[in-house]
Amino acid sequence: MEDSLKCNFCGREKNEITFLISGISGHICNFCIEKTYSIIHKKYFDKKSEKKEKFEEIKIKKPREIKLFLDKYVVGQNEAKRIISVSVYNHYKRILQKKNQFDNKNQKNKNIEIEKSNILLIGNTGTGKTLLAKSISKLLKVPFAIADATTLTEAGYVGEDVESILTKLLQSVNYNINYAEKGIIFLDEIDKISRKSNNPSITRDVSGEGVQQSLLKILEGSIINVPPQGGRKHPDQKMIQINTENILFIAGGTFDGIEKIISNRIEQISIGFPTNYNKNGNNIRDGDENKKNNYLKKIIPDDLKNFGLIPELIGRFPIVTYLNPLNKQMLKKILLEPKNALIKQYQKLFEMDNISMNITDEALDIIVEKTFRIGLGARGLRTLCEKIFIDYMYDIENIKTVLNIDKNIVMEKLGDFY
Ligand code: ADP
Repeated sequence: MEDSLKCNFCGREKNEITFLISGISGHICNFCIEKTYSIIHKKYFDKKSEKKEKFEEIKIKKPREIKLFLDKYVVGQNEAKRIISVSVYNHYKRILQKKNQFDNKNQKNKNIEIEKSNILLIGNTGTGKTLLAKSISKLLKVPFAIADATTLTEAGYVGEDVESILTKLLQSVNYNINYAEKGIIFLDEIDKISRKSNNPSITRDVSGEGVQQSLLKILEGSIINVPPQGGRKHPDQKMIQINTENILFIAGGTFDGIEKIISNRIEQISIGFPTNYNKNGNNIRDGDENKKNNYLKKIIPDDLKNFGLIPELIGRFPIVTYLNPLNKQMLKKILLEPKNALIKQYQKLFEMDNISMNITDEALDIIVEKTFRIGLGARGLRTLCEKIFIDYMYDIENIKTVLNIDKNIVMEKLGDFY
């Protein structure tokens, strides 16, 4: 009986094939599986390239619309949102203009090239830098990859070659080069590759200045040879060529201590001018956070240079903006309001087991208070929520239909946390 089995698609007998997979009322052989796979694969890629064509035609949203979209995901950070909205809008106008230059010969200013506008985001950890970049890619429906600058070293040393940041983008779109060439790369921890000392180094600085130098070519836009699997390039490896001209780079970093550099500069300028007193003679600078915040607003490229970025790299990021440290009010909003707010996520998880989860305002305030004290921005919210909910999720079958979380429960679960 076994021997008479055959593929119901091609009719091959069992002895002509490697294996058969059986379904409810038939079988399929390895040859037909492979063939089907390639048909699906081809269709999938054709769709992707159709999408690519359409990219040229899509109407890019105006800055205000982009900001409204970002508001759905990111709490506060209005200044950064405004600046990003404008620069993303301009970046995509620039791409469209390149195409239109050929279509519209009479266009005025057609010889004017709009330069690339990479963005540098400065702000404490957990304030929404990655989230902003991710949300932008969601809006534009373009490929997105996150790369960590701390893993990079200058060619020839232990670590990853800088080109590997492009590998991540390629991998995210299954090596569809055309599509990847219009993506966004979020380069995190850019401050960690600052020059170790402000004097040009005598000894080699392979994970600092050396990496900055190697990044220049990628950031400004050129054809780059990318190792398909990332890591270190080696001579007999086949490379993929990527043009980075239209890839938008958003870099992020905490730049710890930069406010001191800014304040020194400002205070040097304002010596002898009593600028920080209100009409009652009280010092109007209050709280370290506000101080940092106020100084960040005044950042200029020279401050970044003094922090340890080389001028050429600073020049590749014409747009610099900052994110405010999160206050308690913002943390509470983050718990409740964004589209993917944490509490909404937990409610959904419980709902899938037909449980309605409610949490009191007082309970939320305790989570916020403790998160604020940990000082990891909104990152702490998730850690604390996991601590609160883990036991309930483990014993989910013991919960009837309602789960009420109040102040006492939160205190009990977070007892050891601050
Ligand atoms: P970083 O500034 O370190 O890149 P992330 O953007 O990765 O921080 O944020 C860490 C976590 O906190 C994410 O889950 C993110 O959703 C949340 N988060 C941080 N800031 C905000 C914000 N302003 N609005 C909404 N969620 C935020």
